[in-house]
Amino acid sequence: LAPVVLALNDIVGQSMRMFQRLIGADIAIRFDADPALKRVKADLGQVEQALMNLIVNARDAMLGGGQLAIATRNETVTHSANGNGGDLRPGEYVRLSVSDTGCGIPADVQARIFEPFFTTKGVERGTGLGLAMVYGFVTQSGGQIAVTSTVGGGTTFDIMLPALDDEV
Ligand code: ADP
Ligand code: MG
Repeated sequence: LAPVVLALNDIVGQSMRMFQRLIGADIAIRFDADPALKRVKADLGQVEQALMNLIVNARDAMLGGGQLAIATRNETVTHSANGNGGDLRPGEYVRLSVSDTGCGIPADVQARIFEPFFTTKGVERGTGLGLAMVYGFVTQSGGQIAVTSTVGGGTTFDIMLPALDDEV
């Protein structure tokens, strides 16, 4: 897996039709792109796979309909911040958020979602590997993933990846 310099807005933009097929025609996808987004160094296939895993989970959480929002933002971390995946060192990051208006995740479930093979979907429908893959990819890339969720309200996954300097 060779990391290359990636423009996440282009990756999301080029994948929108595939994402729309994954989520189904009834769910609108909004993409809120930071026009000045810094680039990241990561493996393209892993970025695409991570996005697909998050979107398939969002679909499963919104079987009664809803909205999906993808957003990118440049972000400066000034203080070491603790989250899933350990400390985030101060520096420049790119935030990639995937939000749904689905069923939400109770706190006791949230505590386990990044574990390999943890699923609430039953062995017939869930592998429990989607978020474990995303977690592995993000932490190996020097980033962090965080989940914010309200039962009955929806869920947001925020991925922070180290940004590259403008000159790179
Ligand atoms: P799987 O989708 O095969 O169950 P994942 O690793 O992708 O495995 O997700 C693990 C669990 O996390 C899911 O079974 C579900 O309980 C929960 N989950 C993940 N994403 C969401 C979401 N967007 N909304 C609600 N629950 C979610
Ligand atoms: Mg999944």
